[in-house]
Amino acid sequence: MPLVRMDDMLNHAYLNGYAVGAFDLVSLDFLEAIIAGAEACQAPVILSLAESHFEYFDFELIMPAVEAAARRSTVPAAIHLDHGASLESAQQGIRLGCNGIMVDNSLAPLAENIERTREVTAMAHACDIPVEGELGYVAGVEGEDAERHPGDIVYTSAEEARHYVQSTGVDFLAVSIGTVHGRMKGEPKLDFELLAQINGALNLPLVIHGGTGLNPDQFRRLIANGVAKINYYTALADAAGEQLADNLQRGARGYTQSVKGIQAAIRGEVERCIRLWGGAGRADELLQRCRPWDNVEHLIFFNLTCAEPEAAEIIAEGERVLGTIPGVRRVFAGRTLKDSDHYRYCWRVQFASAAVVDSYREHPVHVGYADTYFRPHAGDRVTEDFAPAIAATKQAAGEAGGRR
Ligand SMILES: [Zn+2]
Repeated sequence: MPLVRMDDMLNHAYLNGYAVGAFDLVSLDFLEAIIAGAEACQAPVILSLAESHFEYFDFELIMPAVEAAARRSTVPAAIHLDHGASLESAQQGIRLGCNGIMVDNSLAPLAENIERTREVTAMAHACDIPVEGELGYVAGVEGEDAERHPGDIVYTSAEEARHYVQSTGVDFLAVSIGTVHGRMKGEPKLDFELLAQINGALNLPLVIHGGTGLNPDQFRRLIANGVAKINYYTALADAAGEQLADNLQRGARGYTQSVKGIQAAIRGEVERCIRLWGGAGRADELLQRCRPWDNVEHLIFFNLTCAEPEAAEIIAEGERVLGTIPGVRRVFAGRTLKDSDHYRYCWRVQFASAAVVDSYREHPVHVGYADTYFRPHAGDRVTEDFAPAIAATKQAAGEAGGRR
């Protein structure tokens, strides 16, 4: 259950004056260290995967591990696609298990940024998934990650921010007020007055990218002015790198000796940040307030009136096209092992959330497939949508008791 809705998580942080760490991970060492750090602090956490890091790991291969880690953790967790560049990447992120999406068109002119962000937001909201937009531009200065964010800092203005949020419908906003991706050169100068203006104009959770190198007082003032999510990576990468260098200097040979202690080094920095940002000890109250994030299974048992070769074609086409619909995570077409008096075939389509039941039914790809291929040949059938039984039963009981 501790995979929870990211909007519930960040709204709680925003209203209660703390920030949730969104730690970018690039390997299983990072994943385990981030979860262990959050559990040690009993704090909510966001497991963040940046599209710009996909050359370091296979996104599709690592996501089942990320999802498993979130689901078995004892603290509320969410899974976020960081700096998604396109509608396609947002859709892929949702398919692979992300329940929060950042869309980054911040280098584009404002009108284009709004148009592309609005498109992603409409798609993600149809899956009940919140979206983080970015306005202004958080450049990279030096060190790990910096080269991935070329150019100069462009500050966010409050007026533009209001216009952007109203036009796009984003749920959270990453703002540029003087932080940089990578390591700071000298003392960072943050524009807290500008941040206060933006917060006053928007009244929604704000996000800071480039948290590495800020001092405790700067973090305190960021959070006091509406920052509820802090993206953090470079310092974790540095802690891992230093541990590795240290191991090698002490004569470590081979892989396992060389990477020894790396998880502990990352975890130490994660814990330090979580405590600094006020998230420690919040897990229990959050678990009571955040709605769980559950997939829905859309099941159809059916017979086909046509012969087997044509049936195989109909099913193959369904497997090909239905998986392209936003919010669909997996498509399984089954045939009974033995001939059955009831139903010979089934579809099992996994949706990211209950909202996809509606958006899927109305999606042109689904309508086209159903009208052209499926319905003309489908005989008896039964269709139901299932949420995990324990969560669904609890919710039904709660509704019956009038508590929600
Ligand atoms: Zn960033």
